[in-house]
Amino acid sequence: MQRYDWNALDADQRAGVLRRPAQETRQTTADAVADILAAVRSEGDAALRRYAERFDGGAPERFGVGEDEFDAAQASLSPQLRAAIEEAAERIRLFHQAGMTQPYELDTAPGVRCERVLRPIRRVGLYVPAGSAPLPSTALMLGVPALLAGCREVSLCTPPRRDGSADPAVLYAARCCGITRVFKIGGAQAIAAMAFGTQSIGQCDKLFGPGNAFVTEAKRQVALIEGGAGIDMPAGPSEVLVIADAGAYPDFVAADLLSQAEHGPDSQVILLSDDVALLDAVDAELEKQLAKLSRADTARVALRSSRSIRVDSIDTALDVSNRYAPEHLILALRDARAWLPAVEVAGSVFLGDFAPEALGDYCSGTNHVLPTSGAARYAGGLNVASFQVAITVQEVQAHGLEAIGGCAMELAAAEGLDAHRAAVAIRREHLRQGVGSR
Ligand code: NAD
Repeated sequence: MQRYDWNALDADQRAGVLRRPAQETRQTTADAVADILAAVRSEGDAALRRYAERFDGGAPERFGVGEDEFDAAQASLSPQLRAAIEEAAERIRLFHQAGMTQPYELDTAPGVRCERVLRPIRRVGLYVPAGSAPLPSTALMLGVPALLAGCREVSLCTPPRRDGSADPAVLYAARCCGITRVFKIGGAQAIAAMAFGTQSIGQCDKLFGPGNAFVTEAKRQVALIEGGAGIDMPAGPSEVLVIADAGAYPDFVAADLLSQAEHGPDSQVILLSDDVALLDAVDAELEKQLAKLSRADTARVALRSSRSIRVDSIDTALDVSNRYAPEHLILALRDARAWLPAVEVAGSVFLGDFAPEALGDYCSGTNHVLPTSGAARYAGGLNVASFQVAITVQEVQAHGLEAIGGCAMELAAAEGLDAHRAAVAIRREHLRQGVGSR
C-alpha cells in the first residue's frame, strides 16, 4: 500500500489520493454489450444459446432450472453449508423486516385525506454472479428483501457451469427465498433476457444485483432504453475504508483490508490512522497474511492502488472518510460507537474490533449490495423498499375541495394553466348550485 501523510498534501494531492482506480467501462465493453442486447432482443433464446457457448463453455439443455435440479442441489450440499445458508437467510430476514417502510395517512386539511400505500414491484429480475466464484450470499441478499416486499414474479439468473448445471449453493439459497424461476444464463445476455424477455424467461420491470463489467454495463444500457427495465444501482468495484487508532489490532485490520482486496484487482482499500506504529504494523501483517491467501495475486494487484494515510487525529480521519464516501467503513477505534454520529456518508459501518466486514457480507443481517464509487453520498444499500413502489393517494370530500380549492386556483392562474384552474372551479360552481352533495 502506498503511504501518505494527509497534512503534507495540498488540495489537488488530497483529491488524487482519494480518487478511485479507473472504472472499467471501456468503449469496447460498451460496444460488445450493445451487440449482445440487440441480439437477445431480436433473437431471444437462440442468441442466449450462442453466447453461452461462446462465454460459458457450453449452453445448458434448458435454461430454466427444474424441480429435480433443485432437489439434487440441496442433496449435494453438506448439512453444515445448508444450515449456514438458512441461518444467514433468517438473520437477513429479521433485519430487513424490521426496517420495512410503512404506509401512512393523514388529513392535511378538513376533508382532505392523503396517504401513501406500498405495492411490490410485479416482476423483478435478480442477477447472481458466478463467473470467478458463485455467490450464494448474493442470492440471499437479493432474494430475502424481494420475498418480504411480496414480489409476485421473481426471476433469478446465474451463469451455467461448464457441465450445464447451476451452482448448487446458489440454487439452495434461491429455494430458501421461495424463488422457483431460476435460469442458467450469465453476463450481459442474462440482463438482456430479463429486461426484454425471451421464449424461456419473462420480461422484468426492475433488475437487481452485482456483476462484472459486462453485467454492470448491460444494466446501465437497459435502464436508458425507453420502456426498459429499472435498475437498483450500479454496483461497481468494491471498497473498504478502515479508521484505526493506536489500540487497534494490526492483524485484524490487515485481515479486513485483504478480505476486500481479494474481491478483485479493481477493489479499493484505504487505511487511515493517527498512529504511525499501527500503520507500520499493518504493513508487516499484510505481507504475512498475503502469503497464505489463495487469491493473493488478485489481492496484490488491488493493494497496489490502495492507500495507507497518516492523519493528525481521528476527527480528521472521519472528515476524510465522509469525503471519500466508502461503500464499507470499519471503525477499529476505542469506543467506536461514540464516533458513529460523526459518520455522515457510508454504505455500511462496522463498529469496533470484532465487526469484520465479512460478517456484513454474509450473515450479520445487513445487506451487502451497497453503493460504490462515491454513490453513498446520495444513496443507501439495497432494502425491502428497493423492491416496492410507493403510491400516494388523496381522497377529497366536498368541504375539502372548498377548503383547499382556492389555493390550487391561485397557483394555476399564476402558472397560466387555465384547465387546471377550471377543474377546481367547475366543481366549486356545482357545489354552490347544490349538486355536489349527491
Ligand atoms: P459474473 O457472473 O458477473 O460474470 C460472468 C459472465 O460474464 C459469464 O457468464 C459470461 O457470460 C460473461 N462474460 C465473460 N467474458 C465475457 C466477454 N469477453 N464478453 C462478454 N461477456 C463475457 O461473474 P464474475 O466475472 O465473477 O464477476 C462478478 C463481479 O461481481 C466481480 O467483479 C465482483 O467484484 C462483483 N461483486 C460485487 C458486489 C457488490 O456488491 N458491489 C458483490 C459481489 C460481487
